[in-house]
Amino acid sequence: MSQQQFENFTASSLYCEKCKAAKPVRERLLLILPDRELYDYLCSDCGSSVGQREVTAGDKMMARAAAPRRPRRTLAPPGLMP
Ligand SMILES: [Zn+2]
Repeated sequence: MSQQQFENFTASSLYCEKCKAAKPVRERLLLILPDRELYDYLCSDCGSSVGQREVTAGDKMMARAAAPRRPRRTLAPPGLMP
């Protein structure tokens, strides 16, 4: 019954080439640009960079899409397609 724990572990772990193993990582804000943000993932053991993530403005809008602000269906009925 420890499946949820396992998922949490994998979600915050990345493979580190120096440690030769998947290690917990720390997310660090690397750069803020007008249209995107760059995050750096550092191995919590040796501190080397094991990955980077780019969050674009589009991703942020996707996150906000959960809010019922602009109701818009992603799957339109075939009859309504132009
Ligand atoms: Zn490491």
